[in-house]
Amino acid sequence: MSTLLEIKNIETFYTLIYALRGVSLSVEEGTITAILGNNGAGKSTILKTVMGLLDDQPDKGTIEFLGKRIDRKDPEVIVRMGLSYVPEGREVFDELSARENLLMGAYIRRDRAGIRRDFDRIYGYFPVLKERENQWAGTLSGGEQQMLSIGRALMNQPKLLFLDEPSLGLSPILVKEIFNIIQTINREGVAILLVEQNARMALAISHVGLILESGRFVMKGPSKELMKDKDVQEFYMGIRSEESAKGYQRWKRKKRWR
Ligand code: ATP
Repeated sequence: MSTLLEIKNIETFYTLIYALRGVSLSVEEGTITAILGNNGAGKSTILKTVMGLLDDQPDKGTIEFLGKRIDRKDPEVIVRMGLSYVPEGREVFDELSARENLLMGAYIRRDRAGIRRDFDRIYGYFPVLKERENQWAGTLSGGEQQMLSIGRALMNQPKLLFLDEPSLGLSPILVKEIFNIIQTINREGVAILLVEQNARMALAISHVGLILESGRFVMKGPSKELMKDKDVQEFYMGIRSEESAKGYQRWKRKKRWR
């Protein structure tokens, strides 16, 4: 297994406030890695920093994708290398049809036959997109827009796919459906870096989990082990233990890499 993405000690700030303070992380080929954390912990900022979406960031540290430095590179260069990004809140092109949205994801490609095959592949994952292919994307439901946004990112034939909160605003049934497809996409060869507040679902489908608090990772491990950790269960999965009153103090003391 080789390393696709290697982030070392990055720091990112907004105006005068540091959002990331020395974040390091690697994503291995073939895996799903999940970053968990509460609102404002800095999860989206990690993805945006890697994608080159924040001007003059990171302030410190290095980012390598496929063995090449990409920190402070243009988003277009990074996308062309095979890294795709599904932003929080989908951001589909409202006044383009579902099909046109998918085509936008293939704008750097010239292989017509390959593009046709990928349309079929994506319609295979999400049959409802085929049914709605001529409908304006702005009129699709939240779940359909999430599927469209994932489909659009796949049209770039990524080696690594970033997903920012794919469960946001969706019903539990839809979340399950979308997470099943995320697993299928991964099994078919695409590595995934997933940012989620839904710790239960994210740990269930990922291989490695990391917990971010105030711009720093405080915990990392195989997802199966994190799911069994009492503190993770209590503070991120909403399962209260008998010792919950004392729990928060214990969590504070234990906050460090493992
Ligand atoms: P959420 O799940 O709510 O999106 P998050 O973990 O993804 O949370 P970020 O969106 O990365 O968190 O934000 C990290 C910190 O940076 C927060 O304190 C946030 O208020 C701040 N922040 C994010 N974007 C900006 C911005 N454009 N300007 C100033 N501060 C920002």
